[in-house]
Amino acid sequence: MSTATNSFPVIRREISGMSIDSIVQKYGTPCYVYDMATIKQKVNDLRAFDLIRYAQKACSNIAILDRLRRLGVVVDAVSAGEVHRALAAGYGPEGIVYTADVFDREALALVKKLGLHVNCGSPDMIEQLGQVQPGASVTLRVNPGFGHGHSQKTNTGGPQSKHGIWHGDIDRCLRLADLHNIVIDGLHMHIGSGTDLEHLSQVCDALERVAKQIGRTITTISAGGGLPVPYRVGQSYVDIDKYFQLWDQTRKRLEKDFGHAIRMEIEPGRYLVAESGYLIAEIRAVKNMGENRFYLLDAGFNDLARPILYGAYHPISIYHRGAVPSADALFDTVVGGPLCESGDIFTQEEGGFVAKRALPPASIGDYLILEVAGAYGFVMSSNYNGRFRAPEVLIEDGQLHCIRERETFDDLIRGEKIPAAPIG
Ligand SMILES: *Cc1c(COP(=O)(O)O)cnc(C)c1O
Repeated sequence: MSTATNSFPVIRREISGMSIDSIVQKYGTPCYVYDMATIKQKVNDLRAFDLIRYAQKACSNIAILDRLRRLGVVVDAVSAGEVHRALAAGYGPEGIVYTADVFDREALALVKKLGLHVNCGSPDMIEQLGQVQPGASVTLRVNPGFGHGHSQKTNTGGPQSKHGIWHGDIDRCLRLADLHNIVIDGLHMHIGSGTDLEHLSQVCDALERVAKQIGRTITTISAGGGLPVPYRVGQSYVDIDKYFQLWDQTRKRLEKDFGHAIRMEIEPGRYLVAESGYLIAEIRAVKNMGENRFYLLDAGFNDLARPILYGAYHPISIYHRGAVPSADALFDTVVGGPLCESGDIFTQEEGGFVAKRALPPASIGDYLILEVAGAYGFVMSSNYNGRFRAPEVLIEDGQLHCIRERETFDDLIRGEKIPAAPIG
């Protein structure tokens, strides 16, 4: 547990003991790097929970999934593709839960074939599952009628959210479950990234009310994800002990009420991986535009989309290939990428307003590192502007492992076809 605030260096020479220059020599730029020691530490922070279920959408490389599996962490999948990723990383069906608000046909077929446990986010899913897997038990993802998130786009509760089963619909779900021979054995509330403790106690109370409405079939509750991590100087971690205590009190009240044990899961994505990840880019142009000074990189929003999507803030540091300047001499700088799109700016606020960052002087050929980039980083990357997706590298026990190669031109056009030219 930690409530300490974070500080971020603006000059960086290494990541977990590996010199940044040596990483770039080997893998080039742009390049994602993950530090396994950080991920391990984050897993250990959450050991008080009976089960840690990783929301793999935050960073789904199969090497990361494999390592989490070895640490005893199970996994959440939100699509057929993510189920296949989990299988490829060595998980058996019992280690995977399918969570979504809809079954697409492919996912439903896979759930049936593997007998996966489902966390239903719509009443319709109960019916659809009942048709292919009568007798199954499910958990329900409930929308308690309020939410919380660091932006509208990450808020996953309340009447504007598409996620979960509306709290007023529980009776209908119980009837649907009876009709289709489905048992509701658990409850889940994931209502947005950026939880604070005051808000959390409301969530716990809401979950308790719904659990009592469903009754004694409930054997599992899930605290969902949404544990925040500090992205800025001065932001702090949630007090994990207090977070656990709040959920544990809810669990204990339900155990007393129901007369049986209740298993308590947590389902983080961001918390486990965000701080392990770095996106290393090279500064390719340094230019002044009126009063603004720009560093332009060889990485763009096709590599890291959080700034353009949410106005998300990532700490930035510089690796100087030549003489290292004093960390005190900082200049307000705008940082952008190479894409033909004016929104390709890493230092922007929500709404697309260009912001400046106090950064050390730097030259072309120096590296710029976008930090706390392990969650919703590579997984949201794209080939926009004909760009190859970056490699991913894992640092583990003082070794560098390539866990995904940089894409090539063949990857870029895979599956594309030119039909025979029309005649005449
Ligand atoms: C995205 C998601 C999570 C993880 O959210 P974080 O904010 O990354 O912790 C957990 N559970 C579900 C169902 C999700 O969709």
